[in-house]
Amino acid sequence: MINTHDVKQKALSIGFHKVGISGVSNGTPPLQTSAQRLQNWLDQGNHADMAWMKDPRRQDILQVMPEVRSVISVAMNYNTLPHHALPQDSPGSSASGLQGQRAKISRYGWGRDYHKVLQKRLKALSTWLQEQGEGIEARYYVDTGPIQEKAWAQNAGLGWIGKHSNLITREYGSWVFLGEVLTNVALTPDAPHPEHCGTCTRCIDACPTQAIAQPFVVDANRCIAYHTIENRSAEIPTVIAPHLQNWVAGCDICQEVCPWNERFAQETDIADFQPYPQNLAPPLVELAHLSEQDWDQRFRASALRRIRPDMMRRNAQASLPNENPYTAHEASPLE
Ligand code: SF4
Ligand code: SF4
Repeated sequence: MINTHDVKQKALSIGFHKVGISGVSNGTPPLQTSAQRLQNWLDQGNHADMAWMKDPRRQDILQVMPEVRSVISVAMNYNTLPHHALPQDSPGSSASGLQGQRAKISRYGWGRDYHKVLQKRLKALSTWLQEQGEGIEARYYVDTGPIQEKAWAQNAGLGWIGKHSNLITREYGSWVFLGEVLTNVALTPDAPHPEHCGTCTRCIDACPTQAIAQPFVVDANRCIAYHTIENRSAEIPTVIAPHLQNWVAGCDICQEVCPWNERFAQETDIADFQPYPQNLAPPLVELAHLSEQDWDQRFRASALRRIRPDMMRRNAQASLPNENPYTAHEASPLE
């Protein structure tokens, strides 16, 4: 018999900042409400080209692992620099000043690839769990399987899904990476975390592309994070390009304005998440003309490798009027 307290202590000793447990019964699929929300989101086409979001296993964890009885959700704080400490735009040598414009990179991509950082620890936790008895199974994921990981994290009491659709923790705000271990061991579940957005609408109001179509519903078709990371087309859509505000890899606007991040975010103790200096705020022009070789060196061991060199060039060019006709005009309001 494995003690739930021991599992949590082990997770914390490995370096996770938060851990919580969800129970799974072998009757009806759990998290029905979240599965239904996901289905509604898909039915409205909010997933854009992210076909993997339609994987039916995402709505039924028993299809991922029929023998699963517990989901151990973990979170790691990745907050490093305060935003005002970032390198700022500087006047350039060109008449327009474009030479001095800095690209904005979402802070999830500043340091070492979070998959590597979390996977190492999840593997350690899974191995330890399997060593606790005969027949114990454990499988881990970090953004790598058809799992509704934010919903499981909320169910396990780690935090709540905010109106911007990210998980918010009381201790670290939303600057957390999530992972989970699925196991056939029945552990004592935690209570789900209540939602604490209240009447706040800051993220909805701040989104430059009105991508938060309604509270808790982000339309990827309008989201800068989607277009800069996942959209594989040759061009950023004309309705999005004028509103990029120099974001080339993700977008943190809705998280930066969140009062929970303003008040409670704290600096991480994980050295791997410290920013690679070249990833913090590189000159836009450099990225607009990035060679394959430069890309390879600049984004080594980085989660930003998901953004191929041609995509990175496309993203940077979309913010430079001389490189892209869309942004040469004044930004028009979105329909
Ligand atoms: S990531 Fe940016 S574009 Fe997407 S919802 Fe948040 S503020 Fe809007
Ligand atoms: S900005 Fe306000 S509404 Fe949006 S996630 Fe944060 S607390 Fe919730």
